Amino acid sequence: MLTLRSYVAGAWAEGTGTLQTLVNPATEEPIARAGTGGIDMGKALEHARSKGGPALRALTFAERGALLKAMSDVIQAHRDEILDLAVRNGGNTRGDAKFDVDGATFTLSSYAQIGQALGDARFVVDGEGIQLGRTPRFHGQHIAVPRRGVAVHINAFNFPAWGFAEKAAVAILAGVPVVSKPATSSAMVAHRITELLVEKGVLPEGALSLLVGSAGDVLEHLGPQDVVAFTGSGDTGVKIRSMANVIRHSVRINVEADSLNAAILGPDAAPGSDTYDFFLKDVLRDMTQKAGQKCTAIRRVLAPMSTAAQVRDDLVERLRAITVGNPAQEGVRMGPVATADQLQDVREGIGQLAKDGRLAFGGATEVQAVGAPAGKGFFVSPTLVEVDAGAAAPTVHSREVFGPVATVVPYSGQPDDAAEIVSRGGGGLVSSVYSEDTAFTADVVLGLAPFHGRVFLGSAKIAEASPGPGTVLPLLVHGGPGRAGGGEELGGLRGLAFYMQRVALEGSRPVIDRVTGNKAT
Ligand code: NAP
Repeated sequence: MLTLRSYVAGAWAEGTGTLQTLVNPATEEPIARAGTGGIDMGKALEHARSKGGPALRALTFAERGALLKAMSDVIQAHRDEILDLAVRNGGNTRGDAKFDVDGATFTLSSYAQIGQALGDARFVVDGEGIQLGRTPRFHGQHIAVPRRGVAVHINAFNFPAWGFAEKAAVAILAGVPVVSKPATSSAMVAHRITELLVEKGVLPEGALSLLVGSAGDVLEHLGPQDVVAFTGSGDTGVKIRSMANVIRHSVRINVEADSLNAAILGPDAAPGSDTYDFFLKDVLRDMTQKAGQKCTAIRRVLAPMSTAAQVRDDLVERLRAITVGNPAQEGVRMGPVATADQLQDVREGIGQLAKDGRLAFGGATEVQAVGAPAGKGFFVSPTLVEVDAGAAAPTVHSREVFGPVATVVPYSGQPDDAAEIVSRGGGGLVSSVYSEDTAFTADVVLGLAPFHGRVFLGSAKIAEASPGPGTVLPLLVHGGPGRAGGGEELGGLRGLAFYMQRVALEGSRPVIDRVTGNKAT
């Protein structure tokens, strides 16, 4: 069986000791092993800091952007091979796999363009200069320079390509070397991408390392110039945040965690209208794409009391048409969840959600999966739970069931009521409102805004152009307060701030102009 190796200190290294087995989630067939036992994590980080950091900082933003473009091109050139891996190791349908892999290339090329626009600078001049005294001589100016440490990127299992690329793009553009750790269960995609990048010599030595297997003690070796960008469960986020050396050295941490994203149907969006259809399409896509294992997927469907039953029936009708099975099989619309643990967690979650209301479709019981060996595979039915209007529904607003599961929650039709119900989720990545009534939309948006990193305004006018709320766009921020981890990633140029040190220069204007090259960005 294939043993996946880590790429550390400029060489491929096989882990020792007990290795974890990676399986095909549709068949449970073992397909690879991986582990990080015996890898010297301190040395891996130091190599990145001492080789990759200086090499990246010596480049201009345009040159770093060219590296990102080259990364994107390599992934694109090997797209089919990577898609095949995502189907086998991720349980992805081909469409799911494309979503992940094309998201990776698009994000890399978007940041390549940002690099090109920043041109021959090596650091960011942040905003306009400020006159601090009576005369213009006494001057202030903020700049942001690359940190001298390493960026440790810890990713969740659901987006092995996109998660890798979106974090790497921003760090490399900022001038900070990356040590990337994909979730072990689905690591084959990130592993192959790194192999290709190393083979083609795309990046300077030390700019990119890969850990395949558990994180081991890597975070124990972090120092004051290092950063950690983590995506995964809230519980792991808490563990990382509370590590003694992380606290002692004020290691910068970004956490992207769970979210109970909501979609609110406006009272004006009558069944049969374009807005209503757009809303149903987005809910259905989010429930079934990647078997609902998207951090941004719609979990709570808020419908006015007058239309909630219709929404439920229309969703049930569409869910009935979803073929669940082995994604390698033609015609399968939804694959399995990623691991046995994940399956158990989703089943447990469905059981708890159902206590808040009633199962309208699906459930936690075994599902007939097309093209999978009998009794094998981590399959679960798409599941819809409905609750009553005004129900306390504690689980609906507190438990993210990370699978093809959503709840229908009736509300009064008033914007304040909708925003209040959604806010019970304790902070989210994205919520959406589907309405053509601009007054209603404006009220809901402002009600949702304090609790979210992104709000999606779903009007039929953007239906053609929009990929829906579940797609993270590189030019918009991704993250959210509270339950969502309190983090912020991407957002175009904004994303660079995490990897850079902002510093205020205070002094004589000509000297400051000399430092900055007198360029404002
Ligand atoms: P997880 O169990 O927290 O694992 C996430 C990553 O953390 C994996 O790479 C895992 O490695 C690693 N890890 C686990 N324990 C660690 C520790 N003590 N120190 C350092 N690293 C550690 O989460 P998951 O089950 O993979 O992901 C599902 C969750 O991610 C869901 O709740 C979902 O909402 C969230 N998610 C959020 C976003 C977002 O952008 N906000 C995106 C995707 C997913 P191993 O695989 O080796 O255990």
